[in-house]
This record gives sequence, structure tokens and C-alpha cells, in this order.
Amino acid sequence: MSEELKDVQVAEVEVEETETKRPEAKKEYVKKPYNRSGMRAPKRKVCNFCVDKAKAVDYKDIAKLRKYVTEKGKILPRRQTGVCAVHQRELASAIKRARIAALLPFAGE
Ligand SMILES: [Zn+2]
Repeated sequence: MSEELKDVQVAEVEVEETETKRPEAKKEYVKKPYNRSGMRAPKRKVCNFCVDKAKAVDYKDIAKLRKYVTEKGKILPRRQTGVCAVHQRELASAIKRARIAALLPFAGE
């Protein structure tokens, strides 16, 4: 028991010494945008509808809806567009409404 306690005390002293030697290095440390595998982490996407503070997605706004639909007419996933969960749900139903109103295609172009 006593030996273990000594080890702990020694370790603490060492840590303090290193901190006093290089105090600037710790202050200047800023988290870099790299993930665990060393690859550059992608920039976090922001929901365009939240930026516009839109409460509802208009199904008649085809120009906007087209950005969230593939060439084949599929709805793009959230992970690709960066739309938040609330607006993705609104978007999906808006696109479906637009399809019924023949503003957007169900399939193909
Ligand atoms: Zn949103």
C-alpha cells in the first residue's frame, strides 16, 4: 500500500513539473478538425430551412425542393443535405405533395 502511494505522489510531481515547463503550449492548444483515423473531419452542415427560420416547407417552391431531390426524383437523405430532422420530415411531405400536384416527378425526368 505504502509503495503505491509513493508512486502516485511521484507521478503527480512529474506532471506539475511538465506543466510549469511549458505553460504556453497548453494554452495555445486548439482542437483540430481531424477525426481518429487522421482524416480531415467534414465541415458540419447547417439546415438551410433553419437558417431561413422557415416554420413550414412550401410544396409550391419547386426551385428549393429540387435541391433535395435526385435526378431520378428520389428524396435525398439528411446525411447528404444536412437538413435537420424537423425540416426533413416537413421536406419529405412537401415533396410528396408536390409530386401529387405534378410539380415534381415521381420517377425520372
Ligand atoms: Zn431545420
